[in-house]
Amino acid sequence: MNIILFGAPGVGKGTQAEKLVKKYHIVHISTGEMFRDAIKGNTPLGQLANSYISKGHLVPDEVTISLVKERISQSDCQKGFILDGFPRTLQQAECLGKICLELNIKIDYVIDIEVLEDELITRLSGRRICKNCGSSYHVVFNKPKVNDVCDNCQGPLITRDDDNKESVIVRLNTYKKQTEPLIKYYMDQGILLRINGQQAIDDVFKEIVNKIGE
Ligand code: ADP
Ligand code: AMP
Repeated sequence: MNIILFGAPGVGKGTQAEKLVKKYHIVHISTGEMFRDAIKGNTPLGQLANSYISKGHLVPDEVTISLVKERISQSDCQKGFILDGFPRTLQQAECLGKICLELNIKIDYVIDIEVLEDELITRLSGRRICKNCGSSYHVVFNKPKVNDVCDNCQGPLITRDDDNKESVIVRLNTYKKQTEPLIKYYMDQGILLRINGQQAIDDVFKEIVNKIGE
């Protein structure tokens, strides 16, 4: 099964991806996480990506598309994958369509998680991620068992550099302008599933599983 997890920054894509990976044994591909890893490693890709991410802007399409193409061509993706945070522009969606044709694979579902904007701001301002494995937590809604320590790998929890107020406003506006139009694009293809993201994490997960099947 190949899935796109879709939605504005903060709807809970990473949180749900972690649970879906465990249930369906498929690969999690988060472009944001790939960029953050590259930034951590101070690679040329990381330096380039950081110049956009730090301002809340999207990384250019050609860079992001080639990164995803390379990743989904790898053999572990044959068991199925979750794309989290990709595509984010019409050009990315169209290129993904071509890549799927080339690789003879198809996207089964686009899971659109929907949350109101005020709630997104509350979620992003309280988000903490693990410095080592990238797992996502929230200071109120999804606390780790031990304060500031990751449940999965015991790594330290940090605030993402781009989860500041200015960047969040830019990212939400970019989502509305460039990414939200993809809802119609995938609805027209008949593969869009709308999920109420404004419920407890486990209930969002149950709604997804109910719609895509056990
Ligand atoms: P995304 O990957 O879509 O940007 P995350 O999965 O990182 O979003 O979630 C954003 C923040 O909201 C995190 O702090 C996460 O713990 C929290 N969160 C995720 N899902 C829910 C939910 N259903 N209810 C409340 N908080 C949530
Ligand atoms: P995320 O972890 O999905 O919130 O992504 C963090 C940041 O990485 C975004 O704000 C963008 O700057 C960049 N990014 C992630 N995915 C993409 C994408 N598909 N296209 C362009 N930029 C992206």
